[in-house]
Amino acid sequence: MKIRKLVCALLLGIAVLSACKKNDSASKSQDDPTGKLNGLSITDVIKLVGAGFDPSFTVKTTDGYLVEGDIFVSNASLRDPRKITGQYMTDDIVENYDTIRLKVNDSTYTGWIAALDNAIARYNGVKLKLTFIRVPQDSTAEINLVPYVFPDPSTLGQSVFPGANKKPGSEIKLKSTEYPKKAEDYAGNALSLFACVITHEIGHAIGMRHTDAGDRTFSCLPNLYGNATFFKNLAKYTNRQMNKLYGVNWSDADWNGIRDIYNGRNEFSYSPAANIPGTPATANGDPGSWMLACMGDNDRPFTKNDTIALKYLYPVKKDTVNIAK
Ligand SMILES: [Zn+2]
Repeated sequence: MKIRKLVCALLLGIAVLSACKKNDSASKSQDDPTGKLNGLSITDVIKLVGAGFDPSFTVKTTDGYLVEGDIFVSNASLRDPRKITGQYMTDDIVENYDTIRLKVNDSTYTGWIAALDNAIARYNGVKLKLTFIRVPQDSTAEINLVPYVFPDPSTLGQSVFPGANKKPGSEIKLKSTEYPKKAEDYAGNALSLFACVITHEIGHAIGMRHTDAGDRTFSCLPNLYGNATFFKNLAKYTNRQMNKLYGVNWSDADWNGIRDIYNGRNEFSYSPAANIPGTPATANGDPGSWMLACMGDNDRPFTKNDTIALKYLYPVKKDTVNIAK
């Protein structure tokens, strides 16, 4: 999850605002793919797009990619490109668990415990098939909260989707410079905002994707899927231009690969992730969702559609109370 850029600019004043504008003009328009791909190879782009991710603003790491601001996707978890039909869920969700144990991995971060408990209470309040509990720092947990310093200061947290093994994402990194160690340092609504971020990252760990998957501009990120021109221009750029401008050297086979992906797809109807039945397929259908990619200054408890989405993924277990009287 990221802080809304607008909030950042408002807080930090004119100097930052003008710097942002400068960056925007330097990266040219959104129609220009060359300013948006952060040195990804065409193979990277094909893999990311094939998995339903927007490749723009992806950060490549040694063992995978940081996509959409707060989701770590390992190289191993990226599968072959394929079409996905259109609140959004991952390919794999959690199976074979009744209880998910969570813990704060660092004993010095005592102030995080109340925020984690708040997040856990939100999930348990929905009464899902999964029950969430906090366990002590020296216990084994399925999901571990870890203090972390992100290269991008607007990043508040980072999570991992469930893998093909159907286990929840095991690690949630949280911005240690944003969230103090001690409980007494959380004033006003700081604790509930932190709990909101933790709830969001737990959402990823159990298979929720961003609610604004269909239109990133709704929350904070650029919408390249809605911009067919972007992909047309991508294919127009010659290897020579790319090499001259950015030092990349893509082969004919690379170009053919990305051309084939987009030629076989109606970009305007293509949805990058699987929409959860019963929830809006458009981002503006649920402006308060806890799974929007960015957040501002307001807490976001579960909306009606958020609850529908969670119950779709993890329906309440039928028990025996329905025995006829
Ligand atoms: Zn997120």
